[in-house]
Amino acid sequence: MQRENLSDRSKALGLHIHKVHDSAGVDIFDVFIAGSGPIGATYAKLLVDQGFNVCMVEIGDLHDSLHPGSHQKNEIRFQKDVDMFVRVIQGALSTVSVPASTMFNPTIDPSVWSDPELGGQVTISHGRNPHQKAHNNLGAEAVTHCVGGMSTHWTCATPEFLKGVERPQIFPDDEAKDDLEWKNLYHAARTLIGTSDTQFDRSIRHNVVLNALREDAAYKARGVKALPLACHRIGETPYVRWHSAENVFGKYLFRDMPEPKSGRGIFRLVANTRCSRIWRDELEPGHISFVEVQDLIAAMKDGPDKANFIINARIFVVAAGELMPCYNQILAASKLGGLRSQQKDANVLIPNLGKYITEQPYISSSFPFRELEKVDDITSSTHPEWWQEAVGAHQTQYPEDPLPIPIQDPEPQVTIPATKERPWHTQIHRDAFSYGEVGPSVDPRIVVDLRFFGMQDGVKENRVLFEDKVEDMFGMPQPTFEYKPTPKYALQATHMMRDMTQVANTLGGYLPGSSPQFMTPGLALHLGGSVRLGQDEKNESVADYNSLVWKTMNLYVAGNGIIPTPFAANPTLTSMALAIRSAKDISDHLQALKDHKDHGRWRWSTSGSKDLVAGTDILPTPDDWFEWTDPKHPNYPDHENLRNLESIVMY
Ligand SMILES: Cc1cc2nc3c(=O)[nH]c(=O)nc-3n(C[C@H](O)[C@H](O)[C@H](O)COP(=O)(O)OP(=O)(O)OC[C@H]3O[C@@H](n4cnc5c(N)ncnc54)[C@H](O)[C@@H]3O)c2cc1C
Repeated sequence: MQRENLSDRSKALGLHIHKVHDSAGVDIFDVFIAGSGPIGATYAKLLVDQGFNVCMVEIGDLHDSLHPGSHQKNEIRFQKDVDMFVRVIQGALSTVSVPASTMFNPTIDPSVWSDPELGGQVTISHGRNPHQKAHNNLGAEAVTHCVGGMSTHWTCATPEFLKGVERPQIFPDDEAKDDLEWKNLYHAARTLIGTSDTQFDRSIRHNVVLNALREDAAYKARGVKALPLACHRIGETPYVRWHSAENVFGKYLFRDMPEPKSGRGIFRLVANTRCSRIWRDELEPGHISFVEVQDLIAAMKDGPDKANFIINARIFVVAAGELMPCYNQILAASKLGGLRSQQKDANVLIPNLGKYITEQPYISSSFPFRELEKVDDITSSTHPEWWQEAVGAHQTQYPEDPLPIPIQDPEPQVTIPATKERPWHTQIHRDAFSYGEVGPSVDPRIVVDLRFFGMQDGVKENRVLFEDKVEDMFGMPQPTFEYKPTPKYALQATHMMRDMTQVANTLGGYLPGSSPQFMTPGLALHLGGSVRLGQDEKNESVADYNSLVWKTMNLYVAGNGIIPTPFAANPTLTSMALAIRSAKDISDHLQALKDHKDHGRWRWSTSGSKDLVAGTDILPTPDDWFEWTDPKHPNYPDHENLRNLESIVMY
């Protein structure tokens, strides 16, 4: 089959080539990536390391920080007072869909404008959505738009999924093969994001919580352990460097990025630029030809019509959001599926887009440690030397302080792992989220937060639809949620609540105003399923286990939305693992193009173009794809030496 003439097509659409092609000196990038969160960064790092030229666009800003994509909690003031970080998170999150009905305000001045039909102020700005019902909304679902995405504020919890419950099966017919694949992928993902479960070993509070649970008969057999976190401690100090997309990009995100050498490719990140639409080849519909992007600064200055450009690439990766609205939005805006008007269209390219979404019922509470029996024990001489020294130093410096816990004692970071019998993820720790500041009435050193996350299977009734006629603040189709927990998982959430209250009662008493409560659906910010992976294109999936969208040759989806299983644990590590696997398929794909060999999804035709083939090639990821996980390898992500911390003091 013949391919269309690209320049004729772009002329017909009135689109010019984006200047990034000139700036990089590249006519056609090997890979285009939409979204600069940790998942987009995973693709970028691995593929640039392999010598491929990558262009990434990000709708958000670089952030006015010296180091784009870095975790904002690394600022020392937040480490001294984590409660202050709550407001940073609140500022970073934009709610996705706000039902118009909640806009009704019975006590507003009767003379102000309101829609006479609906009796409230029904507008469509800032996520207000006239199609959204309140009862089946994910009301707290939110997105972050900036380089680094949500990893610029995330909690960094990076557990693995529980086999047999949460972990997807890449090789369902061969358990040993599946186990080995996940072992390799998880090891690589942990190395890339820098996960550790020892960074809080020298925290008094951490050990108090661990011991209290481990010594309690009810929890002894439940494997209570440190929560795995993507971070590292700076020497022996109370300060931690929290990892983010910046760590995944490594050197590629630095202003003084070295020119490509040692076989590395060119990397360009274009911020303040919206990936608006993916254009398919008119003659070869399984082939994506180019993307249309909008330069948002130029759109403000010169008007949107003069700000739309095309970027050419061989492969396209949509990694534009932890929350599926973002990347689904790009696919929906490209009319590939998911629009309300396409619900009955049997010919749409991606019929399952936005269907079978999963969400996590989420309970939270905060409580101070149970009175003094645990606090008194802190001064006992049975504790290790480092502990006694820290307590001694604190008591010498602050003789009036009735609490023997050092002011800068690192926080507790504990988890009780999920099991088949209790399939929920737990975080027993002290950290900031978008709510839950400890007020002045209680010393934060004795407060512990409990966060329990449940799960939900993807069912066809639960979905996100994209509106044809309503746009979000970036001019993309507005998402509308239709989501309700199924009876099985609703009951599981009740059991989770019971478990949580027992843990809370073991450790302490509730903080006034912070007793256990189910949070607004969506607040876990771990939405999955909307672009789910599957074993064959006839089931309800969107892409294969290489993350290659069915019926396409060169469109890959990425992020938490690809996870097809119900999951309670934080999903980013697993999404990174699947991205590492998918990047290998992209690398093979590009190599096949170069060597004129066939790929699992297409084969060369006699006319010199490519023919789409049904099915897919799902192979184990070979060992050499993981070579960079060896600390001696030049591409090893060395988190402790990512950059010189002095540069924060003097730049
Ligand atoms: C308070 C909080 C705590 C969290 N804690 C944890 C945790 O402990 N563990 C965990 O696993 N996860 C946690 N998460 C979720 C975690 O941050 C996400 O899972 C992760 O960031 C997803 O990575 P991503 O790259 O897929 O998407 P994102 O990080 O969302 O990045 C996507 C990027 O794409 C950009 N984008 C969107 N649309 C477009 C477009 N049209 N064109 C160009 N760019 C676009 C966005 O601006 C964004 O920067 C937390 C999140 C928050 C906010």
